[in-house]
Amino acid sequence: MNSPARVLDTHSLQQAVKGTVVVPSDPTYDSVRAIWNAMIDRRPAVIVRCADAPDVVAALAFARERNLEISVRGGGHHIAGNSVCEGGLMIDLSTMKQVRVDAAARRAYVEAGALLSDVDQATLAHGLAVPLGINSTTGVAGLTLGGGMGWLSRTHGLTVDNLVSARIVGADGLIRRASADENPELFWAIRGGGGNFGIVTEFEFALHRVPTEVLAGLLVFPFDDAAGLLKKYRAFVEQAPEALNVWAVLRKAPPLPFLPAEVHGKEVVVLAVFYTGDPTYGQAHVDELRAFGPRLGEHVGVVPYVAWQQAFDPLLAPGARNYWKSHNFTELADGAIDALATYAGTLPSNHCEIFVALVSGAANRVPMGAMAYPNRDARLVVNVHARWETAAEDKACIDWARAFYNAAKPFASAGAYVNFMTEDEAARVPAAYGANFARLVQAKQTFDPENVFRWNHNVAPTAAAIKAL
Ligand SMILES: Cc1cc2nc3c(=O)[nH]c(=O)nc-3n(C[C@H](O)[C@H](O)[C@H](O)COP(=O)(O)OP(=O)(O)OC[C@H]3O[C@@H](n4cnc5c(N)ncnc54)[C@H](O)[C@@H]3O)c2cc1C
Repeated sequence: MNSPARVLDTHSLQQAVKGTVVVPSDPTYDSVRAIWNAMIDRRPAVIVRCADAPDVVAALAFARERNLEISVRGGGHHIAGNSVCEGGLMIDLSTMKQVRVDAAARRAYVEAGALLSDVDQATLAHGLAVPLGINSTTGVAGLTLGGGMGWLSRTHGLTVDNLVSARIVGADGLIRRASADENPELFWAIRGGGGNFGIVTEFEFALHRVPTEVLAGLLVFPFDDAAGLLKKYRAFVEQAPEALNVWAVLRKAPPLPFLPAEVHGKEVVVLAVFYTGDPTYGQAHVDELRAFGPRLGEHVGVVPYVAWQQAFDPLLAPGARNYWKSHNFTELADGAIDALATYAGTLPSNHCEIFVALVSGAANRVPMGAMAYPNRDARLVVNVHARWETAAEDKACIDWARAFYNAAKPFASAGAYVNFMTEDEAARVPAAYGANFARLVQAKQTFDPENVFRWNHNVAPTAAAIKAL
């Protein structure tokens, strides 16, 4: 049970900002503090729904003058729930959603509260896109600052590989631009270092020409020979062209209209396919996947890119309880495949899944030290996504996710993706950043020596932090 939120005199704050100040007595308070993961139930003393960068400066100053904890909310999707703090001030950017596209220069200027859908819709109108994640409801800010992987990552890298500059409010309250030319060390640090270095109010992304319609969809296989299918998947992705991305998802079949009713609720192996090239060539690759074996159903065709970006939204709507664990892999060893098949065969709820995300390609060609995001040898990222409805199921679901994580660990490569790390993984942060961690600590000492921004996967500005490596 939470303690009652602290009562603050926020009159001066409301005078100072153009946006809205929300306090616990407000009727909107509970909806504004709610985030994607229903496991997180924290009560900030005050929430500032910022309208622009000066609002962020004012909110930060108010919090610092009163020594309040500070959290920053973009899309509110991080599994750890650090966008909402207990008893402090939550800087909510979710109403700052403007996206401006300069099609000639192939640039997008994105306010930090924008969701992936806001960016996709604005850029795809010009036949352009930046690689983002696979759920359109995710926030661009957290996704970018931690890395950002999705269907386009094999061809165009991670989201953060396409970041050209950012406007940031620092711990000192000053607004800076960070890019390769301006404040380059800050730019290095924010590209993977999460919210440790300041509050980004706007991102500038490089855009790529993409087809507005893509060949994409799902192939659903029976679970009986899950390990055999995953071995075929492993061999397939070794030689697949970069225009093709295929993620493997092991879960119970949702009631999708193209699946027979008797399959609903049964364990299945799903291959989610995305091809950015000419669909005619893509079909040949889909045929190779079909040859893996008989399917329970499939739904593959030419669809608007924007629609495909929304295809998984209904399965991952906010409001459920969630717990994740993830590993990076340079390859899927037989032992990892055995763990996948074993634990996907004992799913503790209908909503749990384990997915294998194919990254590789352009995302692996960036040198490891080029920016804070370090996992350039991660060809695959496996995330065990425990998801359920009631608190009574917490233990069974969390234990299951942890058990899979432990079983798969011996076969995993180094590092970890901070955007998939839960709130109990603070001790994993140094290992997550690996060889880039010491430089991140130095950057933290420079840009946030008092650790003002600590509601995140925290890089503490201390020498002791480096010794933790
Ligand atoms: C349903 C779902 C699908 C996902 N799919 C993918 C995927 O396909 N690919 C992928 O790479 N990731 C994916 N993720 C993970 C995602 O990258 C992280 O959850 C990410 O943090 C979401 O960003 P957000 O802005 O919504 O999160 P928030 O929870 O709002 O923010 C996360 C953290 O980022 C920091 N932060 C947020 N905004 C700012 C800012 N403006 N300035 C400074 N710091 C800030 C804060 O520390 C905050 O705690 C998914 C997550 C979910 C829940």
